[in-house]
Amino acid sequence: MEKKLFQAESKRLLEMMIHSIYSNKEIFLRELISNSSDAIDKIYYRTLTDDSLTFDQDDYYIKLSIDKENRILKVEDTGIGMTKEELEENLGTIAQSGSLAFKKENELKDGHDIIGQFGVGFYSAFMVADQVTVISKALDSDEAYKWQSSGADGYTIETTTKETVGTEIILTIKDNTEEENYDEFLEEYRIQSIIKKYSDFIRYPIKMNVTESKLKEGTEDEFEEIVEEKTLNSMVPIWRKNKSELTDEDYDNFYTEKRYGFDKPLAHIHTSVDGAIRYNAILYIPEKMPFDYYSKEFEKGLELYSSGVLIMDKCAELLPDYFSFVKGMVDSEDLSLNISREILQQDRQLKRIANNIEKKIKSELQSMLKNDREKYVTFYEAFGRQLKFGVYSDYGMHKDVLQDLLMFSSSKENKLVTLDEYVSRMPEEQKYIYYASGDSIARIEKLPQTELLLEKGYEILYFTEDVDEFAIKMLMNYKEKEFRSVASGDLGLEDQEQKEKEASEETEDNKELFESLKEILSGKVKDVRASKRLRSHPVCLSTDGEITIEMEKILQAMPD
Ligand code: ADP
Ligand code: MG
Repeated sequence: MEKKLFQAESKRLLEMMIHSIYSNKEIFLRELISNSSDAIDKIYYRTLTDDSLTFDQDDYYIKLSIDKENRILKVEDTGIGMTKEELEENLGTIAQSGSLAFKKENELKDGHDIIGQFGVGFYSAFMVADQVTVISKALDSDEAYKWQSSGADGYTIETTTKETVGTEIILTIKDNTEEENYDEFLEEYRIQSIIKKYSDFIRYPIKMNVTESKLKEGTEDEFEEIVEEKTLNSMVPIWRKNKSELTDEDYDNFYTEKRYGFDKPLAHIHTSVDGAIRYNAILYIPEKMPFDYYSKEFEKGLELYSSGVLIMDKCAELLPDYFSFVKGMVDSEDLSLNISREILQQDRQLKRIANNIEKKIKSELQSMLKNDREKYVTFYEAFGRQLKFGVYSDYGMHKDVLQDLLMFSSSKENKLVTLDEYVSRMPEEQKYIYYASGDSIARIEKLPQTELLLEKGYEILYFTEDVDEFAIKMLMNYKEKEFRSVASGDLGLEDQEQKEKEASEETEDNKELFESLKEILSGKVKDVRASKRLRSHPVCLSTDGEITIEMEKILQAMPD
């Protein structure tokens, strides 16, 4: 039987590429810049094996230029260029990646930086351009060629002249339509900001002539427009630098530059992992809660880079909810991207990274708690609530991660204490970790139920936040000590219980009084008993079940 090849309707395929792969038009510039960077990398690799070539850093760059009048945006590079055949193969065949082939041929596995692999990025230029012209001269060729296309109709190739080796991509930017703005891609500031966003860490300089208004020399209020060539990208990402060369200030600056927050971070974590999955990460614990933190608008997540190119603004999978306040970035060469390079193919690698990151954050917080209490309290006052929600959520699945990070107000010291501190100073005969709930510390301190315990010298945790008691119910115990509300019917005080029993026996005489109280309060209380735990108060409420009075109040306030 004859085997037939699939036919692809290339015109339709190209239309699909252009209109449905990318969610964001501005991505075209990231793709073109990535290609230029790959082209320069290829020359660099050639110089490693070819003695007749030298790599002089200054000769290798990418240059952008804007011609507003003619609606032209040009991306020029001094990379390896393309021969006529390569133009046909790489730009004439959808999904043909010369860069992937290059990686395979040269067996570049470790430490490679070549970005291309799918052979589709180039066509994203048609999202913003009516016509794309490519002029290229390859390192191995004396001739230069011009490739031109207006999209689905196909392309032409002819010879042309070009002095130097490299490639020019010339885009004729579309006219604005009612729905879409294209003029923005002819604005210097817009181009600068797109480069900053996606291509800031491309290792070669991305240059552009930038117009700036400057004070005229010798005058005080006269300005003149000055055009200056500027490098738009920072090139060396801070996370690839050696930790020992970096100061706290460098990290703080990066935080501000990246607009992770307007505050000054309390701490940073810089980690480079070189194991089964390689990545660099810089993470920050902010000082202040973002204003929208507890609103629906807040999105958690870290920036995700693949070999220095931004893939995602906020990758939520990298952070558990209870650490959603953490800001920062991850860069990895080992991610399997999907074709648009916007989302990830599969998240096994991502999960691994996320697990490591979670451990790092936890240990950073633990060491802050141990070594810089004041700082930790600042942190806890901003984000402690989130940790408590973390204990409570997912049926307490994360309690092991979080319980040591919790703090509560206490009757002992006028400050927040940890559970470990509480347990380690419990008198030997004390059975439970006691807590009392209320709207404020002042009100809790007036609770009749606390009197007996305080008299015995037992510490009581003060729960003033609605989530406190729910979190503790999920924990159930800490270091084998159960939690017990001061309002509980059984406080585990043996001698007291005995007395209580005696008390209720004594009340035979008062039977009538208790009976009539019960009748008056019927439907409101289960029982009326004499109590020995009161000191200055005549009466108190106590509970038998799991749900305390405070919890009941919260549950009742919740919408159905
Ligand atoms: P990818 O980068 O994933 O391979 P592209 O569609 O972006 O796919 O590019 C296709 C191919 O065209 C590249 O693999 C490369 O071989 C070639 N190419 C694109 N731009 C350039 C350039 N500026 N210089 C040299 N070669 C280029
Ligand atoms: Mg590409």
